[in-house]
Amino acid sequence: MSVPKLAPTATGLVFGRVPPPARLRDDYIDKPAGWAALGPRTIRGVCLHRTLGGPIVTTGDYFRTFDARFDDGGHGWNALTDWGVGLDGTVLRWNGDNERSPHANGPVANPEGDAVAFLARYGAAAVNRDLESIELEGLTYDSPVTSALMEAVVELIAWRIDRAMIPWHIWPQNRDGLQAIYWHGEFGPKDCPGPVVRARTDELIDRVQARLRAHQLQTAPAPARSILPGLDEALARSWFGTVVAGGRAYTFDPTGPVSRLWIAHGRETGSWPTLIAVEAHGDRRYFRFANGFTIWTAPGREAAFLRDQPATNARPERQVG
Ligand SMILES: [Zn+2]
Repeated sequence: MSVPKLAPTATGLVFGRVPPPARLRDDYIDKPAGWAALGPRTIRGVCLHRTLGGPIVTTGDYFRTFDARFDDGGHGWNALTDWGVGLDGTVLRWNGDNERSPHANGPVANPEGDAVAFLARYGAAAVNRDLESIELEGLTYDSPVTSALMEAVVELIAWRIDRAMIPWHIWPQNRDGLQAIYWHGEFGPKDCPGPVVRARTDELIDRVQARLRAHQLQTAPAPARSILPGLDEALARSWFGTVVAGGRAYTFDPTGPVSRLWIAHGRETGSWPTLIAVEAHGDRRYFRFANGFTIWTAPGREAAFLRDQPATNARPERQVG
């Protein structure tokens, strides 16, 4: 996916931490379908649909088995949607990143609502190219939406919107200030996704926003990445501890120089001391740990244990020594 240049936003937002849906399954439809000629996709939002069929796996089969015999002027052979969400909460991925544009949103006819501004800004090709299309299982437009489907759609949209680097406080708009969630019917004469989904859209937007906020502000727990057998990132964060000094909080950061040295040392010695103080002296920082260790940092040099033989730096140097 090509990501548009990030406009200035509130500081402190972290993208890329929203996890994918719990019940995500790859169901890639391998056919030269979709509107590839529309070019690379820049995701500017999502568009909601109802399958008018079920269960959701059969919708994928329906797209998958289409061949030229069913072509009705471009719709049949090209039929493709990005995502399908089942009543049981299964999320099927039918397309890849930045590949074929789906056809699901169809040609534009009688746009209404937010679609008018979208078309004026991005043009008609963007309707399929720049909106990820999401099919919600339902035999009819009036079929109820299950709580499992609702939760899965929240997870899916939050994940995709975060991937598009849309901040939680801007959602449900995108970074151009345009709506980032649409109903298919806004771009065409169809009723899709129907009254039941439309009636639940405000709730959907609110829940997506809460999920974006929790992860982009890092108020949600980090994914439990493994550091070594028996120690995942969440536990390492807990053991490392938090020290507030000089107006900032020092916590475990698996990519930070001090935390990486702490991990390397722990892997070798089995000692995982807690950070108890951070002191600044000039441009030097001293990270003092409960077992008496001190790691220090200064501009232009790597983090190191403070001692006479500063050999416990990067692992390659240790192995040479
Ligand atoms: Zn539709």
